[in-house]
Amino acid sequence: MLTLRQLFLNNNAQTTHFPLLLEFERAEGVYMYDTAGKPFIDLISGIGVSNLGHSNPHVVGTIKEQVDKYMHLMVYGEYVQTPQVRFAEKLVSILPESLNSVYFTNSGSEAVEGAIKLAKRYTGRQQIVACHNSYHGSTHGALSVMGNEEFKQAYRPLLPGVSFIRFNEPVDLHLITSETACVILETIQGEAGIRVPDKAYMQALRQRCTETGTLLILDEIQAAFGRTGKLFAFEHFGIVPDILLLAKALGGGMPVGAFVANTNVMSAFKENPILGHITTFGGHPVCCAAGLAALEVLLNEQLMEQVPAKEALFRELLVHPAIKGVRGKGLMLAAEFESFELNKKIIDRCIENGVITDWFLHCSNSMRIAPPLIITHEQITHACTIILEAIDYQSN
Ligand code: PMP
Repeated sequence: MLTLRQLFLNNNAQTTHFPLLLEFERAEGVYMYDTAGKPFIDLISGIGVSNLGHSNPHVVGTIKEQVDKYMHLMVYGEYVQTPQVRFAEKLVSILPESLNSVYFTNSGSEAVEGAIKLAKRYTGRQQIVACHNSYHGSTHGALSVMGNEEFKQAYRPLLPGVSFIRFNEPVDLHLITSETACVILETIQGEAGIRVPDKAYMQALRQRCTETGTLLILDEIQAAFGRTGKLFAFEHFGIVPDILLLAKALGGGMPVGAFVANTNVMSAFKENPILGHITTFGGHPVCCAAGLAALEVLLNEQLMEQVPAKEALFRELLVHPAIKGVRGKGLMLAAEFESFELNKKIIDRCIENGVITDWFLHCSNSMRIAPPLIITHEQITHACTIILEAIDYQSN
């Protein structure tokens, strides 16, 4: 029989970059602890999930309360579950008025699937426009709009009718036409190595979609809930999407996603044939209760407001001849090195010294810096000291 460790190493021979298999036993705040009790500062937040840090007491307490009430009721149409209703109401109250209808899913990928289907139903069109270097998930629909040929090749045939534009390139916007059902893009590209578009580009994109009757789908699965210093990243650009995609931090550590649209758009799923989108576990009551609790903590503790100062501290400290630049917004940052080989060596050294970070799926020469928003200035300073030491150690 294989041990868990052997299984992991067999399955991840190509992808794992950890110098040794780390087994985490518990996590609290910004720290994760291995089985020997060694603390590691979490600089990746489970890829945009743990915005409040780990084991937040309000979130954990709320989960326990909900588990005592019920975990799953399969209900459609005539029945609703209280945690879903309360969470949807709260989300709608913090979103622009036009985004007033929430459909909960299991994951980010499922939110992408639901949104693309909805755009097709609402517009009656089949063409989709997506961006080079995008990442929207791992299911077939989400893979179809992923902007990286290398990762898709093995899974063809994928969805037909998808064309790709360059992110933040205004010239490409003419490819959005009156035949296009939707444009899907990340408001701030994550796996491309954190790319922030220009405000003028996002406004021109919004305008082009409105002119052509195309639905604008913004994927904020990685960028929402304070990560960039605003509740939603689209707020930086003065635009509102037609469909907003959420997941990751949405559930406060529990798995839940959502696509959010106007009631008018969402009602396209109610037209004949009536099968819109169905999901057994989507909007699981325990996840919705946790998500609502997480949102309460985020807002009550004014965590977003502290993000710009924390970003500034990272930018001030991460200065080194080997760092070619620090990109991003808020606590969604990337530090660029000359090559993947150097980046990987630095990351390995950081992990050895108690700082967990990694690289990006489509950008292997850059290091991910996306800690929980609760990270203190002292912890940022400590993490940066370890990163700088690792650079010196590996560059020499
Ligand atoms: N969109 C973006 C921008 C993401 O970063 C991710 C996950 N990394 C997804 C979609 C897919 O989400 P999930 O893994 O929950 O399916």
